[in-house]
Amino acid sequence: MSGTGNHRRALPFLAAVNDSSVNAWLNALQKAMPAEQVCRLEAMSDDEIAECEVAIVANPDPAALARLPRLRWVHSVWAGVERLLESTRGADLRIVRLVDPQLAQTMAEAVLTWTLYLHRDGPTYQRQQSQRMWRASDHVKPKQRTVGILGLGALGSAAARVLCQANFRVLGWSREPVRLQGVETFAGADQLPRVLEQSDIVVCLLPLTPDTCGVLNHETFGQLRAGASFINFARAAIVDDAALRSALDTGRLGHAVLDVFHQEPLPASAWQWTHERVTVLPHCSGPTDRGTASVIVAENIARFRRTGEIPEGVDRRRGY
Ligand code: NAP
Repeated sequence: MSGTGNHRRALPFLAAVNDSSVNAWLNALQKAMPAEQVCRLEAMSDDEIAECEVAIVANPDPAALARLPRLRWVHSVWAGVERLLESTRGADLRIVRLVDPQLAQTMAEAVLTWTLYLHRDGPTYQRQQSQRMWRASDHVKPKQRTVGILGLGALGSAAARVLCQANFRVLGWSREPVRLQGVETFAGADQLPRVLEQSDIVVCLLPLTPDTCGVLNHETFGQLRAGASFINFARAAIVDDAALRSALDTGRLGHAVLDVFHQEPLPASAWQWTHERVTVLPHCSGPTDRGTASVIVAENIARFRRTGEIPEGVDRRRGY
């Protein structure tokens, strides 16, 4: 089954049209799997298209996927696959998403960075600077600060670990109960208020699913401690935008660090740009590392070529 020697199999990489990074991805993927011929769909012959069982994808055009009649599974180079799930609804196609320890580490670094920014009163000093005001806040120790992490998967659990190492009190919330050393864990919709009412900083690392869409809304923002902060490094639709704005306007939320938006790039007219309680980030908290991701994709595809085994995929019913 292996595609070695002169007989390299065509392995398509399908990405959103106009993605300027396609060439960089083709190079990185090709380097990680010399036994395959990683290529664009347009470069494949009719026979290759007819035989193709697996493709590598980054937000692909569903019409391009539909051109591969024997496609059994796709390997995404992104960790979040809600768009891919939606665009392939009803298809008998397994979706394998990226789970990369490097990505988890990069995201954990971002969570630590912005948690420390909030913990050490970054927003207050930013405001004071604009008024030329010289005033130091009292120091609060990390162990006196509670950080609640929503989502304890590959990314949330790595973030919890670094926050524990930095001596914060860490709470975590997931769908099913889970044990994580040093973290007080809560599970299920019933227990979300217990996390929100205790947290000074809430970090969202949930996947976007029918259950999590709008889970942060007027009611749940109302369960926060007055003046708590919020970091969204997951997906914009997990948050009800109007509820977020109103919680910031009333001061229920002291500050929000937002990396994800309904429309990206964030339009110039968006309210978040100028809200004094918002830090806007350009979807930079957890970029995929092409090198490490390509090696992980290569291992999964090599195993499939060798054994026919398709890695465990996303659960379409759960939505992640
Ligand atoms: P993951 O491993 O699938 O983990 C998901 C976590 O969320 C699990 O702990 C899961 O609970 C929990 N969860 C799911 N639905 C829930 C619900 N209804 N109630 C409570 N908990 C729920 O996902 P991941 O790899 O950590 O990634 C999380 C998300 O981060 C991705 O989906 C993506 O959208 C986002 N992301 C953002 C960036 C960025 O740059 N901003 C980069 C990469 C990823 P169980 O364990 O009980 O199932």
